[in-house]
Amino acid sequence: MTGTIEEIRGKTEGLRRPRAKMAPSPTPETRPYWDAAADGRLSVQRCRACSHVYFYPRDFCPVCSSDLVEWIDCSGRATLYSYVIEHRPGPGFESDGPYVVAVVQLEEGPRMMTNIVGVEPLPESLPLDMELTVQFEPRGEMWVPVFAPAGASA
Ligand SMILES: [Zn+2]
Repeated sequence: MTGTIEEIRGKTEGLRRPRAKMAPSPTPETRPYWDAAADGRLSVQRCRACSHVYFYPRDFCPVCSSDLVEWIDCSGRATLYSYVIEHRPGPGFESDGPYVVAVVQLEEGPRMMTNIVGVEPLPESLPLDMELTVQFEPRGEMWVPVFAPAGASA
């Protein structure tokens, strides 16, 4: 890894950020995603050449490399694909109990790393393939998509 101390520190913190549950920082590629989230919409990209729907945001299709990509709003419905129960809270969240870091499968196809809310952080509360719906949690200046069991109230 090369660069100034500040650049290296930035990269290192970026790598830690998903585990640390800190506020995200948008890049040019992800800005539309965060703008949509702040508006209460879950937005992913679709390739206009091959119709592949994908996440995380990129300027080109990961299947066919076309740059004819567009943003679409998702239904917000997903299923639980995998998860871990994180017992060590991240910086700034020391008062939080254990929380659930999960990969969910969106109805549109892509998988997304997120948090599961509205359930006890116990394996018996987290059956794989359980139906989920998106919610948005404020985190710093940002709104972060999280998922709760379908039918649960926010
Ligand atoms: Zn494509």
